[in-house]
Amino acid sequence: MNHHPYEEWILSDETLSPAENASVQEHLAACPECRQLKTRWEAAKLQINRAGLAAPATGFTMRWQKNLPDRISQLETQSARRFLFIILACSAAMLAGWVFTWLLNNPTASIATSLIKLTANAILVFQGIKFMVFPALRSIPLVYILAGISIAGTTALMLSAVWAGAIWHYVFRKPQSLELVKEGEKNK
Ligand SMILES: [Zn+2]
Repeated sequence: MNHHPYEEWILSDETLSPAENASVQEHLAACPECRQLKTRWEAAKLQINRAGLAAPATGFTMRWQKNLPDRISQLETQSARRFLFIILACSAAMLAGWVFTWLLNNPTASIATSLIKLTANAILVFQGIKFMVFPALRSIPLVYILAGISIAGTTALMLSAVWAGAIWHYVFRKPQSLELVKEGEKNK
């Protein structure tokens, strides 16, 4: 007997058209092999469903929903901590790199001397600013100075806004629903 296409239809999860269904039923009535295939396939599917969709423990859903606000704030704290950690780690790495470079260029014995030199240099730079920049500023028309200050101010404001936005995004952002779903799966 030719079992094609009945075997495929029996094993397929797609819904058959009424005509296909009728022809399968007709074939099944006449074909013991396909009947057996169908019976075994149904039993196997039942097993798969039982194994895959084990019911959650009693009260799980309720507990999960009850703990949801706690979990959201926990996730918020986590992301805030992660952000702070990244900032601190970057700052520490930069500082360490700077100190390391400085130590490489200054043998331990001369560190004290270097510190003094550094202070002296800072004073020199400050003096330079005082003696060169201030008189220069005086010769620049007030309009330019005001324009420069307002441009610098606006830039600083915009950068602060971007920075504050980034902080806000990382610290106060609500976790995405996908993260909550992942959380839920972890707790299963
Ligand atoms: Zn058959």
